[in-house]
Parts: sequence; C-alpha cells; structure tokens
Amino acid sequence: MLFIARTSYGEVRSAIEAGLEACKFDPGSKRILIKPNIVSDHAPGVGATVHPAVLEALLEHFGGNRCVIAESCVIGVDTDETFRRTGLVKIAARHGAELVNLQKAKRVPKKWEFGELLLPELFDQCAYIDVAKMKTHILTGATLCLKNQKGILRNADKMRFHRTGLDRAIPALYAVLKPDLAIIDAVWALEGEGPGKFGERKDLNLMLFGNDALELDNLALRIMGFEPGEVGHIAPVELGEIRGARLEDVRTKFKRSKGYYRQINLFYFPCGACSGCTNAISDAVKTLLKRPWKHPLKVLGFILKGILGKRVFIAGPDAAYPHVRGQTICIGNCAAKFAAQENLPHVPGCPPRPEDILDIL
Ligand code: SF4
Repeated sequence: MLFIARTSYGEVRSAIEAGLEACKFDPGSKRILIKPNIVSDHAPGVGATVHPAVLEALLEHFGGNRCVIAESCVIGVDTDETFRRTGLVKIAARHGAELVNLQKAKRVPKKWEFGELLLPELFDQCAYIDVAKMKTHILTGATLCLKNQKGILRNADKMRFHRTGLDRAIPALYAVLKPDLAIIDAVWALEGEGPGKFGERKDLNLMLFGNDALELDNLALRIMGFEPGEVGHIAPVELGEIRGARLEDVRTKFKRSKGYYRQINLFYFPCGACSGCTNAISDAVKTLLKRPWKHPLKVLGFILKGILGKRVFIAGPDAAYPHVRGQTICIGNCAAKFAAQENLPHVPGCPPRPEDILDIL
C-alpha cells in the first residue's frame, strides 16, 4: 500500500495518523526503531534533513518511551554533536525516547552479496521505520529510503560501499535489511546539487508512506520526474494501490544534480567519493574563509587564483578528468592512483586532513 498525504509541518501529525492507518502498520509489542535522515547539522529550513516536527509527531503517536531514534551522520560529521545541535537530544528527552548514535551501537554480522556486513543488533529487535527525505544527490541522482539505510553502516563500510559502487551496494543492503514501514518527508524537499546545503529547497508539502521501501522510492521518483531506471540503485517496479492524493496531481520535475559543486571558480568533482573527502574539502574552505586574518596570504592567493583561473578538485575511486579544466588537484587515497598516473598534485589521507588541503590551497 502507498499513501500520499498533502500536509505542512504544522499539520504533520494528522498526515502521519492517516499514513499509518492506510499502511496498517502494526508493530505488535515490539519497540519502534525510527531511522531518520539526519546527515549533518543542517537547519530544518535547508530541506536536507527530516524535519523535527515529523519525529515529534511519530513519538507522540507511538509514545516516546517505546521508541528508539537511531542514526549516524556522514563521515567527517560528529553524530553526538549533531544530535545536540539539531535539538534531537531535547526532543528525545521530552518524549522519553532513546537516542542512539549508531557509530557506537552493538553490531552483529550479516551475510550479504559482498561477504559480511556488521549491522546494528537493534534492527533485529525492533519494528523498523525508515524515515527518508526526498532529495536529489550528486552521486546517485536521488536519495530516498534505500539510500537512507546507508546511514546505519560503520564508517569503514560506508567507504566500502563507495568502492563497491553505490548502485550495487545499496540494493544489496536492501536485500538483507528491509524496513517494516517506509516514510518520505517531502514537505520541504531538495533539488539540484543535493544532498546537502548546495541543493535548493523545493516545497512540495507532501508526506509519502509505504509498506515496501522499494515501491515507495519508485513512487517518489515518479513524483520527482525521474524516468524509470534513471536512478541506478532503485530498480523500477510497478506501483500498487495508491491512496490519498493522486500521483498525477502531485507530479513535478526536480532539477537534477550536475554532478559537481562549485564555489566561485573552485570546482569539486566527487567521482564516487564518500563524504569523508567532500567534508574535508568543505572544512578546508570554511576554515580559510571563516578566519581570513589567520591565513592572509592563502586567502589572497585563493581569491586571486579564483579570479584568474579555475581550481578543480577530484576525489574518489572513479577519479578521472572532468569536463571542466583548470589547475587539477587530487584529494584522498582513492584518487592516489589517478594522481600518480597523471602526475597531479595530491593530498593523501582517508579521509584527508583539512589542514593538508589548506596547505595546497
Ligand atoms: S579516500 Fe576519500 S573518498 Fe576514498 S574512502 Fe577515503 S574518505 Fe572516502
């Protein structure tokens, strides 16, 4: 069953009641594990993370003391600090819910297509609700419920997913771990250079619900205007019954990601890189521009080079020359081979240290 609710964050509680009712979600006597997409400490208004109102409404509906909110942020972002900054610590405490940093969770081995994965034991013990955000994504085209599951992995496995190829690894994870209920927060969605702050918020005022995460992701892609098969990790499936709003009335067209980030004349091509390299570059630029008096010559050089020429950063296991040409610098161990082969400047590390990137800036 699929359910499309038209709503706002102010009215999200009644949308959730209707969605749970339509999907006949019955956790029995189990505890409820809510896995939201909280990749970083973005403000809710950015549209990159599940809105706190959605989590509050779920906790109110089920009763906070039987709920666990569990997440681990992207590589390079401190999950405990993010819980504090986004107000999740206060929300969980107010409702008596448990808040779990999955980086520290007890894990059990699971066989999957590529050998063995260590997954949090909690997922075997609870009724699991995958609460994703509707966003475009610079590497995968879109990120929805299947991709949200990557957030439960250890950092080492997140990196391994990138080396394996996300389009193969994400469906393989879904083959061994399926949510009991899937929800997509599309009240404020994100288009363009998602999944973070470089994307543009798109207000759809929708919440989507489904018993089958793959089917729900397919519904979301149709709403976003993607062609079947366009997002490699989401296999096309026929949609079953849809209740609530009609698909044809809520269909729209999301701006696709161009596949790179740009700030002035600084270009970054992730080439399959995980967020470890992406955040290291972002932190280096932030450090430079936040306290320019600390590195006056670097800032001057950065601005002059930015005006006079292009800087192109490349990271990731699929490192290759992009269509934008300029002074090319390789970042991170995954790009080491390409850097050596092409005799390009290289900042090693996995993830690389922002200070070392700063040196090369
Ligand atoms: S080198 Fe960069 S892209 Fe490669 S695994 Fe390490 S952090 Fe991720």
